[in-house]
Amino acid sequence: MILVTGGCGFIGSAFVLGWLNTSREPVVNLDLLTYAGHPGNLAAVAANEGYTFIRGDIGDSALVEQILTRHRPRAIINFAAESHVDRSISAPLAFAQTNVLGTLKLLETVHAWWRKLSPADASEFRFVHVSTDEVYGSLDPHDAGFTEQHRFQPNSPYSASKAASDHFVRAWHHTFGLPTLTTNCSNNYGPRQFPEKLIPLMIHNALRGEPLPVYGDGRQVRDWLHVDDHCTALNAVLERGRPGESYNIGGRSERTNLAVVDSICNALDALRPRKGGGRYIELLSHVQDRPGHDRRYAIDDSKIASELGWQPTVKFEQGIRATVQWYLDHEDWVESVTSGSYRQWVELHYKSA
Ligand code: NAD
Repeated sequence: MILVTGGCGFIGSAFVLGWLNTSREPVVNLDLLTYAGHPGNLAAVAANEGYTFIRGDIGDSALVEQILTRHRPRAIINFAAESHVDRSISAPLAFAQTNVLGTLKLLETVHAWWRKLSPADASEFRFVHVSTDEVYGSLDPHDAGFTEQHRFQPNSPYSASKAASDHFVRAWHHTFGLPTLTTNCSNNYGPRQFPEKLIPLMIHNALRGEPLPVYGDGRQVRDWLHVDDHCTALNAVLERGRPGESYNIGGRSERTNLAVVDSICNALDALRPRKGGGRYIELLSHVQDRPGHDRRYAIDDSKIASELGWQPTVKFEQGIRATVQWYLDHEDWVESVTSGSYRQWVELHYKSA
C-alpha cells in the first residue's frame, strides 16, 4: 500500500486515478482540503475498496503516525503543498507553514516510524518528494536547461519554500538514511487544475468573454508537461529511482506564455467558436508583470531518460486541445471548485473527519 499526500489536488488526483487504474495496490490519501483540494476529483474511485481518504494535515504528527502504524505503507508520495506563486507573494506564511514546516514534520514522523521497521522493510521503503523546477531560478534565453547539479536560486516565496523542503528531504537521507527521492518538474497542465493557474484561467475567462490577462510582455518561457506524463515519471522514480537522488522532469516543450495563450485560443476557436463571432485571442490583455517574475525555465531530462528510461509522450498541441475539451465538458467542475457554496459543503461534510 502507498500513502499519497495532497491527493485531492491537481497532480495528486491524476496520480491516484492513474494508480488505481493500473494497479491493485491500495492507496491512502491524506489531504487537508485547502481551497485547492477537491474530493470530487477522486469521485471515480471514492467507492473503490483500494482507496481510503483521510482529511488532515501533513504537519499533524499524531495523525500521520496513526496512519503509518495502521496502514504500513511501502512508500509515500508527497504532493501536499501550497502551490500558487501569486498567492505566495500576497500570503507567504502559509507557504512556509505547509511547504517547509509541514514537510519537515512529515519527515520527522516518517523517520521515527521507519526506524522501527525490519531492515528488509526499511530498505524497501521510499519517500518521494514532488517538487518544482522553479527552485533553480531563472535562465537566460540561450542557457542550457537545468540539470540536477544546477544551483538552487529560488526567486519567489513559493520556490523558496519548495527549495527549503527539498533541502530537508535531502538532509533526511544523508543524515538519517531515510530512503528519500526528490523530483523537480516543469509546469504541468491537464484536467482538474485549479482555475487560478495560467491555462485553466485563460480557458475560464475566454468562455466568459473576459480579458485574458498576460503578465508583462508575455515572453516568459516555461516548459510544459502533461500531468499524465508527470505521473508516469513519478512511478518510474518510485519504482526504479536511487534513494538520495533527485530527478528533473520536463516536457521538452518550451513555450512563451503568449504562445500558450495562442494555442488555447486556437483550440477554443475550433471546439467552441465565440458567440457573436471574432477570435478568442482578441481578448488578450497585457497586465503589469508579476514582481520577481522568472524569465525562463527549461529542463535537461537526460538523467531520468538514461537512468530510468522515462520520456514524455503527450505532444503539447494535442494535450492542450484535450485539456480545453475537458474544461468545456466540465464547466460544472469549475463552478464547484470556485464557488463559496462548495467550500461550505466541504466544511460541513468533513467537519468531524
Ligand atoms: P494543488 O495546489 O493543486 O494541490 C495541493 C493539494 O495539497 C491540495 O489537495 C491541498 O488540499 C493539499 N494540501 C495543502 N496543504 C496541505 C497540508 N498541510 N496537508 C495535507 N494536504 C495539504 O497542487 P498541484 O499543482 O497538484 O501540485 C502538487 C505538488 O507538485 C506540489 O508540491 C507542487 O509544488 C508540485 N509541482 C507542481 C507543478 C505544477 O505545475 N502544478 C509543477 C511541478 C511541481
